[in-house]
Amino acid sequence: MKYTYYYDEVLASAFKLAETNGYIDSVKKIQNQVPKTKCECCGNCCMDSPNAYFVEFLLFFREFKQLSKEQTKNIIVKTIDWLLLSLKNSQFQCPLIDENKKCSIYEIRPLNCRTWGFESKEQFEYNYENNIKQQNEEFRKFYKTNYDIDIEEPPRIDYCDKVIKVDNRPFSQNDINDMHKRIIKMDSKFVNRQIIKHMCYQPLPVHLGVFIQAKCKITWDEWALLRVQILRELNENNFSKTYESTKERIIKGLNLD
Ligand code: SF4
Ligand code: SF4
Repeated sequence: MKYTYYYDEVLASAFKLAETNGYIDSVKKIQNQVPKTKCECCGNCCMDSPNAYFVEFLLFFREFKQLSKEQTKNIIVKTIDWLLLSLKNSQFQCPLIDENKKCSIYEIRPLNCRTWGFESKEQFEYNYENNIKQQNEEFRKFYKTNYDIDIEEPPRIDYCDKVIKVDNRPFSQNDINDMHKRIIKMDSKFVNRQIIKHMCYQPLPVHLGVFIQAKCKITWDEWALLRVQILRELNENNFSKTYESTKERIIKGLNLD
């Protein structure tokens, strides 16, 4: 598969459309409508990275571009590990969590991170059974059918009842659904203008990964093969030459040395 989106010029035209229509500030405003919370900060919910919309990625990317070379490298290296090694070890935390178990992009974290702990246990179970479990199954089937390899079942993240709302604003599942709808409406403009081919609702590290792959001229097929090769080498020797060389290639490709 050849990339038809996420190249520099595509990102540039996405930014132009987003800036002209105020989408990036609008999405930030929507995110900030989620009431402030406190919790036990155990970091368990960041064991995985939830899906984020394309316009949320643009918000993240706008901030990301302002980081120092060292901060950028830090996020990129953790993202590469998350993307390349997660077939071997499904217990990878979101690359945006820091060493103190705090979100390094807390102010602009996606809607799904903000609303964690707000939904009812029933809704949480429904979502797990009807979406997450099936997605995991399809993912494992894909690698079994296409590459004859077995992928570990990703850890199930437990429902959290430790989130406490610290302001008095009422907030319900309907409010959450409404926020999703408003963001989806913005995302659809990028598809309508053929800036992106289809709706992009995937974890921030995957959005970032597509950018990394495009920048380093790694095609989607090549990327999948690299992941499989790395998994095979790790299973055999506990060391992967392919992982080391791919990491080096990316760091060089992004001029982060
Ligand atoms: S929301 Fe819950 S799972 Fe996430 S860090 Fe806080 S206490 Fe832990
Ligand atoms: S973006 Fe932040 S809050 Fe969301 S999963 Fe990653 S570290 Fe956790």
